Amino acid sequence: MMIATAGAASQALAQEDTFPYNNEQFADIQMLRFKVEGFDDLTLRQKTLVYYLSEAALQGRDILWDQNGRYNLRIRRMLETIYTDFKGDRTTADYKAFEVYLKRTWFSSGIHHHYGSEKFQPAFSQAWLREAERSAGISAAQMQANEELFPVIFDPSVMPMRTNQKDGEDLVLTSAGNYYGPGVTQAEAEEFYAQRKPASDPRPIMMGYNSRLVKDEDGVLREEVWREHGLYGQAITKIIENLQQARPYCDTEKQQRVIDKLIEYYRTGDLRTFDEYSILWLKDTEDLVDFVNGFTETYGDPLGMKASWESIVNFKDLEATKRTEKLSQNAQWFEDHSPVDPRFKKENVKGISAKVITAAILGGDLYPSTAIGINLPNSDWVRRDYGSKSVTIGNLTDAYNKSARGSGMGKEFVIDKATLELIEKYGDLCDDLHTDLHECLGHGSGKLLPGTDPDSLKAYGAAIEEGRADLFGLYYVADPKLVELGLTPNAEAYKSQYYTYMQNGLLTQLVRIKPGQNIEEAHMRNRSFIAHWALEHGKKDKVVELVKKKGKTFVKINDYEALRGLFGQLLAEVQRIKSEGDYAAARNLVETYGVKVDPEIHREVLERYERLNLSPYKGFINPVYIPVRDAQGRITDVKIDYTEGYAEQMLRYSRDYNNLPAIN
Ligand code: ZN
Repeated sequence: MMIATAGAASQALAQEDTFPYNNEQFADIQMLRFKVEGFDDLTLRQKTLVYYLSEAALQGRDILWDQNGRYNLRIRRMLETIYTDFKGDRTTADYKAFEVYLKRTWFSSGIHHHYGSEKFQPAFSQAWLREAERSAGISAAQMQANEELFPVIFDPSVMPMRTNQKDGEDLVLTSAGNYYGPGVTQAEAEEFYAQRKPASDPRPIMMGYNSRLVKDEDGVLREEVWREHGLYGQAITKIIENLQQARPYCDTEKQQRVIDKLIEYYRTGDLRTFDEYSILWLKDTEDLVDFVNGFTETYGDPLGMKASWESIVNFKDLEATKRTEKLSQNAQWFEDHSPVDPRFKKENVKGISAKVITAAILGGDLYPSTAIGINLPNSDWVRRDYGSKSVTIGNLTDAYNKSARGSGMGKEFVIDKATLELIEKYGDLCDDLHTDLHECLGHGSGKLLPGTDPDSLKAYGAAIEEGRADLFGLYYVADPKLVELGLTPNAEAYKSQYYTYMQNGLLTQLVRIKPGQNIEEAHMRNRSFIAHWALEHGKKDKVVELVKKKGKTFVKINDYEALRGLFGQLLAEVQRIKSEGDYAAARNLVETYGVKVDPEIHREVLERYERLNLSPYKGFINPVYIPVRDAQGRITDVKIDYTEGYAEQMLRYSRDYNNLPAIN
């Protein structure tokens, strides 16, 4: 599981720093750079390890593009040819619109919005695109073949959503994502996996996790497994090669065994091997350098089963990790004192390891839009029996905070000076703590009742799970225990987090939604249902209100302590829903409080936001790692470079990591 940045809520001030965090801005996107603080202090061995693992992180890029839609690689190749070889006028409105369209497509690894999932509508004409193909020297035969892509790009009724979450529709048939072959229906997919579910397996594999489900000509369903010599095999072979090159540079044998197991899994596609790998990986806590590489998160599958490919390479931030270690050392205390029904609590919280890391490179579904915290593995029984590894990504959060400096968000949306001062003082700190609590304790807390199917919440599973982790964090960020542990400076600091959370869930996260649209993305749904549920249930006592000042809507929190009580109450209910697998309650909670948008408030928030000239979404350009070699070709150093531009990086990746055929 991952935590995404709330983005729009960030408004705290930061210290002076000359690193160029902010890069170009287009459509609703602000590109940033992140600083890999401490890279030069790594040993040569560790730098070399980072280098090969970062190559492995980039080799899987095409996999995600294809997972996001079956035409994406073909479209990317056509657009990039035009972008590089176009000989016409590059100053026209059509060309400018084309450029924005390509940049958005790069950003999303496909033609649908990375967050809202809706298809981009190009602002250039079909006639212009054909002319541009000709101008770029695309052959008549290739142009003929490309005709198939035109309705996919231009017709709003073709593949309108990448991941459709609209209640009542056939989520599989109506989603453009490539996790299911043409013609497979939701009922068929659910039936296929229901039939294969063993009656009572205390350690079930994550069924369907690493395959596409397709229908043969005779209507029979079967899985195409993502593995070497299987689907995506060409890219997986490259990943394996780089993992093998990385292996000798691991600091410990333990980590070498992690790599060996991952390679074995990539070769066989066997999900039992994947669970074995996950256990080895989560137990490897000593190594400074660490990585995720593989099919990991299931947010892109409307049924929440099939995992998108991602990678991150990182190393531990030893100083900041002291903070998360305090939390994980007290994990059992937090579990025991939570407001959850004892039947749903873990008697023995196992193996929660938590650290703050410095990201070195982002790949697949973590690039360019990324998480700020990760808690893995996702298998419920592995978490129950072995625990999980939890990370907060310090240098990315830091880059977000520094780029948001002076954005004007706080001034526009925070109700008064006292609250703004509170946020400026404690906002960054409590944000970090909330992320730590979410990742290292929230996701790891609680248990399913025996016999509860981990997939029973279906399309609502992700929003409920993220809400559960958020609520755990909200409840505890205000606990006196944190002051006692020295994590918060006083009993007031948490209020900054409560205010920004409610403000984001009720108002500012709406800047990411287009007028008339619902909230689709799981993390946004969870923030929305938590904030709206608390608003509604605190109404009679006026715990939280939406008030008007000079025609503008603001969040007003009258009773912070009572708000904490509400968060605790909802945490208990959400844990019950998860533990019992109560689908009807999950659906009711998410649909009532998490999905719909008040059009009046939405319009107002968009207007206020537009005047600030900010981008609601942010993503990162990767640094470039350049190995320095001696005459024998041995690596003697690895240099880091931050000057590569966004388009330059995307084109280089398309050239150097071009691992899959156009049609898979
Ligand atoms: Zn999460």
